[in-house]
Amino acid sequence: MPELPELEVVQEVLNRRIVGQTIAAAELIQPGGAIVVRDLTGVGFSAGLAGARFEAIVRRGKFLVFTLVAAEGAPLWLVVNPKLTGRLQLCAPSAKKAGPVHAVLHLSGGQDLRYVDQKKMGQVFVTRQPPEQAAIADFAGLGPDALAVSRDEFKARLKPFRGEIKGILTRGDFVAGIGNAYADEVLWHARLHPYRKKTSLTVEEVDRLYDGMRACLLDATEKVRAEMGENIHLKPREFLAVHMKGGEPCPRCGATISLIGANQRITNFCRQCQPGGLIKGM
Ligand SMILES: [Zn+2]
Repeated sequence: MPELPELEVVQEVLNRRIVGQTIAAAELIQPGGAIVVRDLTGVGFSAGLAGARFEAIVRRGKFLVFTLVAAEGAPLWLVVNPKLTGRLQLCAPSAKKAGPVHAVLHLSGGQDLRYVDQKKMGQVFVTRQPPEQAAIADFAGLGPDALAVSRDEFKARLKPFRGEIKGILTRGDFVAGIGNAYADEVLWHARLHPYRKKTSLTVEEVDRLYDGMRACLLDATEKVRAEMGENIHLKPREFLAVHMKGGEPCPRCGATISLIGANQRITNFCRQCQPGGLIKGM
């Protein structure tokens, strides 16, 4: 489940490593490729991408947008939404698979860019239309990036939302880039209980939320950069303060970290540092 910090570093590595290279061949691996890849060009994944050259890669929330120039000279985009289980792997063709591979781009420089996904939950779109105009689920409605949004815009965008603050933070139409794991981390940084109702937050607490979000995401991006290196298929998360650390001591106060929920929807927080809120599921 890559989120803003991981995808930010993946984007940096790919810009450094693959921009300027062409796709010698693009291969769909069945049956997963048919589920994961959405060809909006009508030409087909392999035919549409063969000979295309990478121009730039940008991160948009939890999406990666690859801008290419197709063999015949027209612009072409590859949009990756890894969701909970998708990853990219840049490696030698002989390298061990980081998981089930569903699509491979064989690059002119000799390396492969693989799309790996344990549960085939992610999506890879190929389009000749700019991504915001193409039929890419959840893309056009994305809010500003969590690292780019100003304090004033953050406050203004928060106004219409109701409900629990953790749920709001993970909504891409509020700010883009934060998922289940980093919502827990941001709220720990901001010392706010994940189940606090947004309407109960004071002006000072909303400021703390904004500051906590920035501090958390910037710090995490630096740590991911150091730990991931060039291995973009890795997901360094050991350094997180509370997420997936239920039962362990809070790194700030030493109290035991709470765990609520199950599977992909786990919420972790520290009752001592993040007091209040209605506790669900207890
Ligand atoms: Zn604590």
